[in-house]
Amino acid sequence: MAYLAGKRVAISGAGIGGTTFALALEKACKARGVKPLPSITIYERDANASDRENLGYSFSIMQAGQGKAALGGLQVVRNLEQGIVEELAQLQEPGADSHICSQTMQPLIRIGAKRDDTGKTSEIMRIMRSNLRNTLLNHVPPSKVRYSSTCVSAVPSQREGQPVQLRFADDSTAECDLLVVADGANSKLRTALLPHEQNRYAGLCMLFGRTHELSKLPPEMAQGHYLVLGKKPSAMFMGCVNRNTVMWSLSSPAPQSAANDLNALFRDKASAQDFLDHEVPQRVAAAGCGGDLLHSIIDRTDVTSLLALSTMDKLPHPHNDNGIAYVGDAWHPMSPFSGAGANMALVDGWELAHELVEGGHSSAQAAIQQYSEKHTERSTIAINQGRRNMGFVTASGLKRWFLVAGIRTLGIVFGLLKSQKSLKTIIWPSFRK
Ligand SMILES: Cc1cc2nc3c(=O)[nH]c(=O)nc-3n(C[C@H](O)[C@H](O)[C@H](O)COP(=O)(O)OP(=O)(O)OC[C@H]3O[C@@H](n4cnc5c(N)ncnc54)[C@H](O)[C@@H]3O)c2cc1C
Repeated sequence: MAYLAGKRVAISGAGIGGTTFALALEKACKARGVKPLPSITIYERDANASDRENLGYSFSIMQAGQGKAALGGLQVVRNLEQGIVEELAQLQEPGADSHICSQTMQPLIRIGAKRDDTGKTSEIMRIMRSNLRNTLLNHVPPSKVRYSSTCVSAVPSQREGQPVQLRFADDSTAECDLLVVADGANSKLRTALLPHEQNRYAGLCMLFGRTHELSKLPPEMAQGHYLVLGKKPSAMFMGCVNRNTVMWSLSSPAPQSAANDLNALFRDKASAQDFLDHEVPQRVAAAGCGGDLLHSIIDRTDVTSLLALSTMDKLPHPHNDNGIAYVGDAWHPMSPFSGAGANMALVDGWELAHELVEGGHSSAQAAIQQYSEKHTERSTIAINQGRRNMGFVTASGLKRWFLVAGIRTLGIVFGLLKSQKSLKTIIWPSFRK
């Protein structure tokens, strides 16, 4: 890792992956006594940290990793600077359990997070994206972050020791020795460097809405998030964003242009209100979803929160450009159906820094290659899981009938096993006394 001493490291994007990498690299270099420390600069498109906070959603970060990777996102935040995981624990939201429900939100199966005797779970942390991102960013010295700096293209290093050239939207340029591309799912740098590595439309349009702040969260919502399987090939998701706001989404098969068309409509407040009052209830009914709780949440939707997203993903690509590495969605965008994008961004940031500093390589490029080869598997697994989940919600006809029947049966079997377990824990010890 002598190749890092005094080098200029540029990161495009102060999101979850970019900030994790910055913190992990600084920590690892200090621990290994790299001198002088590499100088780190994060270039962020937005004008400040709170620009995207209106995209309010929360997700689960997990202790366990995927594939051969032992690390999960929660383990990464535990490994980062002292204090980060404690700060995040203060910001934790309720609702760590997952449920698959019937069309009227009757839980068919519950995937509960393991809890200790006090009812706390150490395996999953439910957190708002903005809280995770801002907590990480608050630990990066402000002098290292340049806001309003949109990276648009880069020229890889031509040979070992030569700099990478970086270009911004205002036509200014910068040089660095290592560029970490962390500018999210629609990465401008990836498009410029690897134009053939396009995102793939996965066929579902997701419509999102959030409730007005509820003074009291419906008790069911605090117990977890819910995938509501309608009768038709579509699905609704309900989950609390924080202690008094619920987010819902309705996903259905649609042409790729559908999300853009809807977002254009939502820019006009009167059209958005009309859509919310008439079209949303119709779409929910057409999906075969309903029930009092679901309707009461949809009725409280804040019209300004309406948003449509196309489900996009892309398998991770090899790293062949000298001096350039990718982390998070810029490397492997995944649909919300994988439920793992934030975890992957955290793990990528940590693993790339680890490989560069601790990997025992002779050059930064060798470390990047090793990182790329070692960590392709886990993101591929998560993307494929997301694709399977989408196939599951869009199943129709007999396939859908068998799926729902299968879930009901599993729910009954798990329920029986659980009650047998509680019988064992209550009866067996007293019988042995
Ligand atoms: C509605 C929704 C629900 C989700 N649910 C889950 C979930 O349940 N579980 C989960 O694990 N994940 C979930 N995700 C995915 C998760 O949010 C992302 O995978 C994660 O944020 C990716 O982190 P990142 O750092 O790669 O990118 P981002 O967090 O998107 O950060 C990219 C950063 O780069 C900046 N940027 C963009 N372009 C440029 C540029 N040209 N130059 C400089 N800076 C730039 C952006 O402003 C941003 O700050 C969900 C996503 C959405 C949208």
